[in-house]
Amino acid sequence: MSVSFYPGPSRVEDKIPAYVKDAFKEGILSMNHRSPEFVAICKTTVGLLKQKLSIPKDYTIFFTSSATECWEILAQSLVTKESIHLYNGAFGEKWFTYTQKLHPHSTRIEYDQEIIPEIDSMVFKSGEMICLTQNETSNGTQLPNSFIKGVQKNNPKHLIAVDATSSMAGIRLDFAAADIWLASVQKCFGMPAGLGLIVASPKAIQKIRVVNETQHYNSLTLMDQMMLSWQTSFTPNVMAIYLLMRIMRDRPSIAEVNKQTVKRYQAWKEFIDHSAELRFLVENQKVRSHTVITIAASEAFMGTLKSKARAKGFLIGEGYGALKKSTFRLANFPALKEKEIKGLMKVLKRF
Ligand SMILES: *Cc1c(COP(=O)(O)O)cnc(C)c1O
Repeated sequence: MSVSFYPGPSRVEDKIPAYVKDAFKEGILSMNHRSPEFVAICKTTVGLLKQKLSIPKDYTIFFTSSATECWEILAQSLVTKESIHLYNGAFGEKWFTYTQKLHPHSTRIEYDQEIIPEIDSMVFKSGEMICLTQNETSNGTQLPNSFIKGVQKNNPKHLIAVDATSSMAGIRLDFAAADIWLASVQKCFGMPAGLGLIVASPKAIQKIRVVNETQHYNSLTLMDQMMLSWQTSFTPNVMAIYLLMRIMRDRPSIAEVNKQTVKRYQAWKEFIDHSAELRFLVENQKVRSHTVITIAASEAFMGTLKSKARAKGFLIGEGYGALKKSTFRLANFPALKEKEIKGLMKVLKRF
């Protein structure tokens, strides 16, 4: 089996098979989602997420099936007319596109991947929700916490929603700086796909109750009511919630994880800076993602890269969309091991 450096789904935590076995032995796989046992698991998992990721205590966490589903849920239950989407890449654009189908008046602001937009220009008169992609997985860029906080400060009447799918649990996020954070677990959580998360502030919960949208099985109104007693509006992926509980129990605090992620990013930077063939897609160090390393190389190099890496036991991420042929992406997620990173570096060096 090759080690997956794909930026999601990616290498899962080593303990996953043992925890799946435990789940079977403990009856988790056939557990009723209305039982007190499930309620206990749900409550513990939410508590651990808050504790380990430094999420404010008064925030609410909802379970969904994917980050894509989270986009749709937000569009259904929190936007009544118009959201504003600020993005520089394919995932931000996808979020906009999905939302626009439900709310044709939603607007977009695209920005260059080499910059962080001016906070002073981020003052909005219309719109209800400002949508930011903290970590743009397609081009390996990120927005700093300070930017998100600045947008929040400039727009006190709006909800700030942040897609942190490929960074949550990998870097320190300032959860208090936004109202909604969404993610899925097959990236920095080191888990198999099939579970999404929405982290919501008290202000978001208040808006959910005001909008009171009830047309969908996953309307936030119903999800909110159910989560008051640690339950979900449909039979959730109980096994995934259980695995998340076990994984979060093992994880150190996000401060520790963040330190390791940045250290490993620095090692990749050092490596790429010294390589004759490789360069970062994005030149500006201030905007580079710490969890998704996006590397540009010549077409000749790219032509043989994948098969060479695979022969040595590594799966690397292709470029995304229009960047497919000119770039490749490497996950810098916590579940990857030091020796695997060194191993892949060796392969890239010997080219
Ligand atoms: C992977 C990813 C998604 C989609 O996640 P799914 O769980 O597949 O729906 C959305 N946004 C970003 C930034 C991503 O990296």
